[in-house]
Amino acid sequence: SQELLEAGRRAYELDREHVFHSWQAQGPFKPMTIVKTEGSYVWDGEGTRMIDLSSQLVNTNIGHQHPRVVAAIQEQAAQICTIAPQHVNTARSEAARLIAERTPGDLNHIFFTNGGADAVEHAVRMARLHTGRHKVLSAYRSYHGGTQLAVNITGDPRRFDSDYSSEGVVHFMPAYTYRSYFGSETPEQETERALRHLEDMMVLEGPKNIAAIILETVPGTAGIYAPPPGYLAGVRALADRYGIIYIADEVMAGFGRTGQWFAVENYDVTPDLLTFAKGVNSGYVPLGGVAISDAIFETFRDRAYQGGLTYSGHPLAAAAAVATIGAMTDEHMVENAERLGREIIGPRLQEFKAKHPSVGDVRGLGCFWAIELVKNRETREPMAAYGGSSPEMNQVVAAIKAAGVLPFNNFNRIHVVPALNIPDELLIQALDVVDRALTIADGFVTG
Ligand code: PLP
Repeated sequence: SQELLEAGRRAYELDREHVFHSWQAQGPFKPMTIVKTEGSYVWDGEGTRMIDLSSQLVNTNIGHQHPRVVAAIQEQAAQICTIAPQHVNTARSEAARLIAERTPGDLNHIFFTNGGADAVEHAVRMARLHTGRHKVLSAYRSYHGGTQLAVNITGDPRRFDSDYSSEGVVHFMPAYTYRSYFGSETPEQETERALRHLEDMMVLEGPKNIAAIILETVPGTAGIYAPPPGYLAGVRALADRYGIIYIADEVMAGFGRTGQWFAVENYDVTPDLLTFAKGVNSGYVPLGGVAISDAIFETFRDRAYQGGLTYSGHPLAAAAAVATIGAMTDEHMVENAERLGREIIGPRLQEFKAKHPSVGDVRGLGCFWAIELVKNRETREPMAAYGGSSPEMNQVVAAIKAAGVLPFNNFNRIHVVPALNIPDELLIQALDVVDRALTIADGFVTG
């Protein structure tokens, strides 16, 4: 309606005057206005309807404005908007039960945070207190959050400007078959070599000082490069051998994104701590947390855990989680995510790779896929350098948006990360748009 668009224009002016945005040079930034959202659609400041292929920051796993979750937030607001974390609250208790029932193994205890970064902070703190050690091993090409410790644990360029106060944080090379650091030509080789490297890192850093290894189960923003077969089982075994806590960061990969409730289930491993956020309630109200094993819980049975937040287990966020998990379960969204990956996204991306010379690699599972664009398939020279954008990538992304699809893109990659309940025909329509934009990318291929 005209009123919505008018309000959107006013909001844009105020935004440019007063809102300080994340990760941006404030001057040239031209944010997109969103005036309405529903299911897998968003409407921009001109009132144009777009298919949301990004799930925003890969968090709206159930799509926008799911009526069951909106109603649950409204009902909770009418009852108890907020209560301090030391008091028992029905929404929080239920959310903890539903999460603990779905996490693998004995991850039976839930500490709630406001989002993913603080979940990572607390997981590391718990690991340090539990082991009495201080070092943390983390992979390059990873993202773990924007707070001081989390951004230092992160292995991507967002760390560079804050790369201090990172006492004990040590980075290692991940298993990443397409751009192997170990010269591997097969996933099996990559697993073996990456694990040998990781064990070397542990030994050289002194296992008695290493509290934790943290890994995104399937690294997300860094490129949705799923671990090669056996890698995570190997990580689990190394962690056990050296008494190191294994933290699985499932902030992006968790809650159905990979076609399982938690991504570790795809690899039959159980971490000691698992961090979550985003999909836990689709981001309708900020929420994150750490799922804690029985053994680590025991450390804090008689010893106070020195950590907390005013909004830990906030009732509005917890009620949204209860309704989200309920909707995901009743509407079989996790199973649907697996099907969409297997039947629609995977085959279509393979087709892209076969017909578009600009497509260097496609990979993923469930509703979690990346298309890696290259200028040259032989050299694998990326369409945008690590840590940057390029006029070529900008043109491809602009073409996708102009055709009515909101993509998630990073460096030389376009990610296909829709809601787990996106209707098949909308997904196919969005992939048709990406297909056409890749023809533009093909024009930039030099090799
Ligand atoms: N960990 C992973 C794997 C993430 O993808 C993110 C955010 O994208 C975070 C942690 C940080 O979460 P938040 O932005 O909620 O602090």
